[in-house]
Amino acid sequence: MKIAANKDLWADELKRSYDYYDPKFDFYYDYSYTCRGCGLDEVWTAQQQKHHFEVLKKLRGVSSLCNQCFHKYNALKSRFRYFKEQREKETESSKKNAPYIQEWIDAIQEYKKYTDKYDLGMEHRLIGLTKTTDNNCTKNTRLFELILRNKNRFYKMADGRYQPINREPLDALMVGHEYVIANTMMANILKSLEIINVSFSPVIIFERFNSREITGFERLEVERIDDKRSLLDTSLCGNRLLLYKNETVLVTPELRELIESSEQLFEFKKFDLKQRR
Ligand SMILES: [Zn+2]
Repeated sequence: MKIAANKDLWADELKRSYDYYDPKFDFYYDYSYTCRGCGLDEVWTAQQQKHHFEVLKKLRGVSSLCNQCFHKYNALKSRFRYFKEQREKETESSKKNAPYIQEWIDAIQEYKKYTDKYDLGMEHRLIGLTKTTDNNCTKNTRLFELILRNKNRFYKMADGRYQPINREPLDALMVGHEYVIANTMMANILKSLEIINVSFSPVIIFERFNSREITGFERLEVERIDDKRSLLDTSLCGNRLLLYKNETVLVTPELRELIESSEQLFEFKKFDLKQRR
């Protein structure tokens, strides 16, 4: 089926787009597709398209969802708006135990069927909350060492730039001295995990041996522990990343799980705290 388009009836925004001048869009054609949500074969008819653009003045061009799934998809979107509004009203402590967290996670899982554009950071944060109840972590006796592939070290130059001490290639996560250095991608992942007591600031790295200046890295201020005794007194609850003796990056079991679910290729080594009671 093929129907002539009357482009002058389109929404103004569409009239300003290239589609307005593209002869490809002079006609509407029946369009067959498989619904991404339910897998049914569907046809968006030429007639429906004419109505969609010229009467309803809509913009959505190509459909990948059948009507039913499109409605479910929109319903989930308004659910998210509702959850976000609720969350605004919470305090720091009530956030963790909000009754709708699991429901919200389930809604995100459902939403993923319909689109690739979902809030991965929010999903991780919510899952983190469900795992951060204080009662099941006080007995934690184990941390995990995040194995860094390269043993880069940095020092801060007088002009504020950071110089690597050795010539190993830069990596996603490195120990500077009393801080951690991460590339932007890694920093963004860590930001999305809502780690307790971590702050980020962009840095410039200067490689003296080839006079090269490199951006796209951030410095992380993290919780620092300088000896085993202090480690025993440290809370192991929640998403914590600890810099131990300025050389080893330790994470709590909760944080380890989150990092692993973020599809980053990291290795962990067990780090036992034998004397912890
Ligand atoms: Zn469907």
